Amino acid sequence: MQGVIKCGNCNCEMKTEEREFANGTKHTQLVCPRCGRKGNFVTSIADEDYKMPFGKYRGERLYELARTNASYLQWVLKNLDVQKSLRDRIGRALQQPKLA
Ligand SMILES: [Zn+2]
Repeated sequence: MQGVIKCGNCNCEMKTEEREFANGTKHTQLVCPRCGRKGNFVTSIADEDYKMPFGKYRGERLYELARTNASYLQWVLKNLDVQKSLRDRIGRALQQPKLA
């Protein structure tokens, strides 16, 4: 987990907000829930927080999908031309130790 980042204006805890640009890329930006101040884009999302950016499981956490729908993630790796960063995340999610 990433550490808490405080807003420079009102010192409350910044939240992350997902934004999708016209070209389809997604970024996570820090936003203050009180004053609306926008912070930096967060480029490195922890693996366990990363969500599927497209497809029928869009918005679901990769790590959750790896447990409940590993065959779908394997299908994505095999059949879709996905970015290397996503490919790496899916690979790591599939290799996580299975939880009881
Ligand atoms: Zn603020």
